[in-house]
Amino acid sequence: MVAPDKYTAEKILWIHPWAPNLFSFKLTRHKGFRFTPGQFARLGVKKPDPDNPKNPSGEKIVWRAYSIVSASYDEHLEFYSIVVPGGEFTSELARLKAGDTVYVEKTNYGFLTTDRFEQGKDLWMLATGTGLAPFVSILWDMKTWDDYENLIVVHSVRYPNEFAYADTIAGFRSHEHFGAQGHKLHYVQTVTRAKAPGALDKRIPALIESGDLEARIGLKFDHDRSRIMICGNPEMVDDTRKLLQAKGFVTSRRGQPGHLAVENYW
Ligand code: NAP
Repeated sequence: MVAPDKYTAEKILWIHPWAPNLFSFKLTRHKGFRFTPGQFARLGVKKPDPDNPKNPSGEKIVWRAYSIVSASYDEHLEFYSIVVPGGEFTSELARLKAGDTVYVEKTNYGFLTTDRFEQGKDLWMLATGTGLAPFVSILWDMKTWDDYENLIVVHSVRYPNEFAYADTIAGFRSHEHFGAQGHKLHYVQTVTRAKAPGALDKRIPALIESGDLEARIGLKFDHDRSRIMICGNPEMVDDTRKLLQAKGFVTSRRGQPGHLAVENYW
């Protein structure tokens, strides 16, 4: 249970469906809520709890972690979600509509942030599915563009209709906000259960092992240059981390910057 003074009640302002099981939504943002791009919030939705004798209210709040898609300076908070069939949280969330309430913990969480790194030249952002969310927030941060020579986004999905935020990411190349720095962005899509024009067709670890990812981008994984963030399916995160560790890349720890920062998405 989260104590009532630890969260705020926010309103859903906007819901955008991407595919039958994928949607984004925007919430009002409490003026005291702060975060660093790449971090996540804990969101709560109210559910009936009718047969619990310890809970006479007949309702409970269910909580889940959600990476924030928005820029840190945005007026609202945007999130990107999958609907897990029968899932306690996401199926409730998917039923909500504009004007309904979602609770947001006042604390921000997570270490998938660029301040875990020092002195890199190429920032690799490797994502599966909804694990893309924190990288959109990181890309809205001007500092990311100033600090790196190359920004590489790799998004792996099962089917081509799951490429949420594709226009936003491609649009960063010519966005006025980033001036002449748009050319730094490399955006690679991979689709693993269908063919899609222009996209690669294997999982991220396989693309690293074969050298196909480096070949597509024209950059090598390099200890001096590469700083690598991984987010999404926990098995993908684990496999990719191990693969890169075997190549001598080191996970960043508190006060010990390395090459890798990771977040499991569920
Ligand atoms: P997903 O299974 O994560 O697939 C997305 C991409 O990741 C696909 O290209 C997939 O390739 C790849 N992938 C999967 N396992 C991998 C691994 N071990 N190594 C490398 N790549 C891997 O699909 P999703 O649609 O995002 O999520 C599927 C399920 O995940 C949901 O039904 C739900 O159960 C769970 N999920 C839960 C939450 C949550 O609770 N918050 C959030 C997201 C997802 P393949 O096509 O080859 O598998």
